[in-house]
Amino acid sequence: MQNCLFCKIVRGEIPADKVYEDERVMAFLDINPQAPVHLLVIPRRHLVCLADATAEDAALLGHIQCVIAELAHTHGFADAGFRVVNNCNEDGGQEVEHIHYHVLAGRRMQWPPG
Ligand code: 5GP
Ligand code: ZN
Repeated sequence: MQNCLFCKIVRGEIPADKVYEDERVMAFLDINPQAPVHLLVIPRRHLVCLADATAEDAALLGHIQCVIAELAHTHGFADAGFRVVNNCNEDGGQEVEHIHYHVLAGRRMQWPPG
């Protein structure tokens, strides 16, 4: 997508502090961190939000969760714990319309979320 912010990061047109990439997925630091660790994990392929996912996306979305697990171990927050957040559409609080998973760690999370 030409004007999508995260597609621009995927294409290298906007810099990002990358922590992981493979042929399907990228992870980078959130520019406005809400916890000591705040990563964003995205598919390279443009998908707007989770509501648009179909059975064809199952392997990709499963892979994203496996990447998150790997990051939790390599970054040392697997045992302490972490939170994964996916904001979808307006009520979900989604601002960037390219599906992304927030990975938050390094502090105790609250429930319920705001
Ligand atoms: P959303 O509200 O859509 O779930 O989350 C979008 C996230 O993208 C926010 O946490 C915001 O801080 C982050 N973000 C917005 N613009 C940029 C950017 O240019 N670079 C990076 N690394 N993160 C961004
Ligand atoms: Zn995109």
